Amino acid sequence: MEKRLEPMERFCGNCRYHNAYQYPDLILCFVRYQKHEDPIVSIFGCCEKWEPKSQECLCLEEALKKRNQREG
Ligand code: SF4
Repeated sequence: MEKRLEPMERFCGNCRYHNAYQYPDLILCFVRYQKHEDPIVSIFGCCEKWEPKSQECLCLEEALKKRNQREG
């Protein structure tokens, strides 16, 4: 029987099209890069092209920790 994946909150930081840029807050988006749009976006951003990344990414985890510390 196939195991269902947990629904995942959508962020640029867990989208398959992101790559590290300014760890951990900013990422480089390949979709935006290919469209000649500014490819540097917040790790907490999102858009309609979002697709899940198969591997967990540490920068999102770090950015979430940092944000939680800031918000106390
Ligand atoms: S802007 Fe869209 S396509 Fe680019 S990384 Fe974020 S969610 Fe993914």
